Amino acid sequence: MEFVITPPPQPSAAVIDDSARFPIRRIFCVGRNYAAHAREMGKDPDREPPFFFTKPADSIAPDQATLPYPPQTEDLHYEGELVVAIGKGGVDIPEADALNYIWGYAVGNDLTRRDLQAEAKSLGRPWDWGKGFDNAAVIGPIHPVSRTGHLAQGAITSRVNGVLRQTGDLTDMIWSVPEVVSILSRSMALAPGDLIMTGTPAGVGSLTIGDICVVEIAGLGALTTTIGPRA
Ligand code: MN
Repeated sequence: MEFVITPPPQPSAAVIDDSARFPIRRIFCVGRNYAAHAREMGKDPDREPPFFFTKPADSIAPDQATLPYPPQTEDLHYEGELVVAIGKGGVDIPEADALNYIWGYAVGNDLTRRDLQAEAKSLGRPWDWGKGFDNAAVIGPIHPVSRTGHLAQGAITSRVNGVLRQTGDLTDMIWSVPEVVSILSRSMALAPGDLIMTGTPAGVGSLTIGDICVVEIAGLGALTTTIGPRA
């Protein structure tokens, strides 16, 4: 195929202990999937249906990166999250079959321009500018299910400069991973390469220049991000 301009590079994530990489198609994110976080954002965490937003595939940033403090914000937040990597496509996936569509898991940090998100919420505008900016999807190496098995429980924590800020357990999710995969597949044809960031526990907060944020999930290790000066 011929293109009129140079095609963009294929976004991808590292795979643990493998030189081959995981190609990224789309990045879906679940909003308010931990009750305590929903409450801290001023929402009732009752099981209203989950809602989703997206980040561009090329907003991915790797482990150990120093990221420039993003433009147009004075309130950059971390959100430590479990990331699901889809390896097989499907629509209307039954919950009981959903795990068979998952290739692996990773630790993620759903970086958020909280002030722009709050403004969008209050004005009834889309969340994209708060959630979908450059380097907003920090995602560590993907651990294949063939090595880790499926993750339904385990501690998830975030530390900023060594201080514990977020602590939860994967069992605290309002909507489990199989439920999220199943529900998402009713609205979109899931495809290999899709990633799902599954929501964050309570304790989100600000990052400033020079901060080091470490998100950790039992069985998946740590994801380290340093916030550098504005570009
Ligand atoms: Mn999030």
